[in-house]
Amino acid sequence: MMRAVFVFIFIALLAFGAVWLSDYPGDVRLTWGGYQVETSIIVVAALALVFAVIVALIYRFWVWLKHGPGRIGEVFSARRREKGLEALSSGMVAIAAGDAGEARRQAVEAEKNLSGEPMTLLLAAQAAELNEDDRAARVYYDRMLARADTEFLGLRGLISRAHKEGDLIKARKYAERAEELRPGTAWVLKELYELALKLRDWEAADRILARMSKGKAAKGEAVKRAKAVISYERALECREAGKREEALAFATTAHELDPTFVPAAALDVALTASLSSARKLQKLIDESWKRAPHRDLAEAIRKTVPGEQPPDWFRRASQTVAPNNPDHVETHMMLAKAAFESRDWGPAREHLMKAGGDNPSTSILRMLAALEEKANADAIAAREWIIKSATAPQDPLWICNACGRQEETWNVHCPACDSFDSFTWRTADRGAHSTDEVEAEIVQEIAAGS
Ligand SMILES: [Zn+2]
Repeated sequence: MMRAVFVFIFIALLAFGAVWLSDYPGDVRLTWGGYQVETSIIVVAALALVFAVIVALIYRFWVWLKHGPGRIGEVFSARRREKGLEALSSGMVAIAAGDAGEARRQAVEAEKNLSGEPMTLLLAAQAAELNEDDRAARVYYDRMLARADTEFLGLRGLISRAHKEGDLIKARKYAERAEELRPGTAWVLKELYELALKLRDWEAADRILARMSKGKAAKGEAVKRAKAVISYERALECREAGKREEALAFATTAHELDPTFVPAAALDVALTASLSSARKLQKLIDESWKRAPHRDLAEAIRKTVPGEQPPDWFRRASQTVAPNNPDHVETHMMLAKAAFESRDWGPAREHLMKAGGDNPSTSILRMLAALEEKANADAIAAREWIIKSATAPQDPLWICNACGRQEETWNVHCPACDSFDSFTWRTADRGAHSTDEVEAEIVQEIAAGS
């Protein structure tokens, strides 16, 4: 509105000026070199006006070029950006699809159009990974480390590179730097935890696990079990270093966290025997046998009395251990073995039969065979048991849930596949079980037996 008024006033003034000029006519004579121009004042005024308008327009155009957004330079850079972003997304798709050549082409295209953008570095690094170009991948990750906005991401790449190279120490160094950068990030904590386990740094593993279980990275039973296993390993370390009191404290923690964890129960019993009162030891034995009777625990209980003769052990086992869980297979097995060693054939046979039930295992049948030979010198009966044993169910063993490796003793890491805490006490012919299933079965067994 105001603008229209101004235009109107301007045109009116112009008309008024023109009329006024025509009322007072005059001449303008210009002489320059050999030229002579002669004209009226109105023409000069009109020329002056046209000149002013042209200058104003040129000035406006220059200002528009210089200051306004989206001008010529930026039109070009927007095009490049678009091309770069297209290359980025195509490159990411190529990586997801495992197309190494295409990924590399798009990475080059993105780098050309979006030079210096953090995402182009990541794409280039990933493309290099896909092309198995280790040197290039490391160069890109190192460039990512140099920038604050990509440092964390670069560390992640370098950690996985270090894993590929099998350099756990280097992986841990990068993970620690990532932890400093963004403390408490779930994947970093998990990485540090797994590295501590692999490096057998139990103290660090314990510390990180405590931090993880505060956050959402880990929860419940799995944490309890892991903490039990780590405490057990720390107990072993302390015992090795001659710190027996500390060893006992860790062993007790491990045993309490997971009463079904046989190695911890056995170690707890062994250390309590040498450090605590007889009364305390007996209480521990009672509870342990009630909750989780096991071959290895029986062995640990036996060793609490050094140099004990087989008949003495048989008597002690019958009177102080067995009553805690009298019908359990492991109880019968413990008593059968003790009686067998004492050459007390009657109870040995009785407990072997009870342990075997309707479907005795290989080792029970072999013990029965040995018993026939030793007790009665009955080679024919012995042979019958041996033949039967060939098709009998296998005895339980410590079996790795990850790779199926069978071991006589529990191991914290599988000697074959290096999995952490993968051994469960079970029979091989039951096929592959998940850890949870096996644990559930063990719990059921214990519940049924107690
Ligand atoms: Zn394994």
